[in-house]
Amino acid sequence: MKSIFSVASMKSLLIKSSKIPNSFSWKWNGWVPKKINTFMWKVVNNNIPTMLALKGRQVNVGDTLCKLCGEADEDADHLLTSCLITTIVWQFISECCNTSSLFAFSTKDLINIHSHVKASKNKRKGIQAVIFTTAWCIWNARNEAVFQNKVIGINKMLENIKALGYLWVKNGSPCSNLEWK
Ligand SMILES: [Zn+2]
Repeated sequence: MKSIFSVASMKSLLIKSSKIPNSFSWKWNGWVPKKINTFMWKVVNNNIPTMLALKGRQVNVGDTLCKLCGEADEDADHLLTSCLITTIVWQFISECCNTSSLFAFSTKDLINIHSHVKASKNKRKGIQAVIFTTAWCIWNARNEAVFQNKVIGINKMLENIKALGYLWVKNGSPCSNLEWK
């Protein structure tokens, strides 16, 4: 099954999706690495290989249930916004960012949600960087569950998010005022 994730197939997916007119676009966040922006771009263009996406491409994936919660079919919206495990992660992240308003109903919300937070421009950009980092860490935890049968607990996920988010936001921003509790 791993072969479907080859660079070549990824490239062809990217090329295909870049031809979609009106595909969702936004200004990339310079505080996180390019690969994270690319990942988010694929997320909002429905281009990450979730179980349902693969099934839609006639890949025999067998069980399409989300590997984090086991409760629903896995598509990008479920995995990154409505999964029970993910919801708990977002709740912690909201608290870390000192904001109560990080509620996403679809993956597109993940791109814009920071703009609704009452904060300085810099802090909003930092929050977007943390949101991107969180989505990336959820996807990695999911990959470890799918490919290595490893369960990444919520605490471990939060540790990873904090470590990466702190590193990236600190390095990328001249005056980060994001507070991590
Ligand atoms: Zn789930």
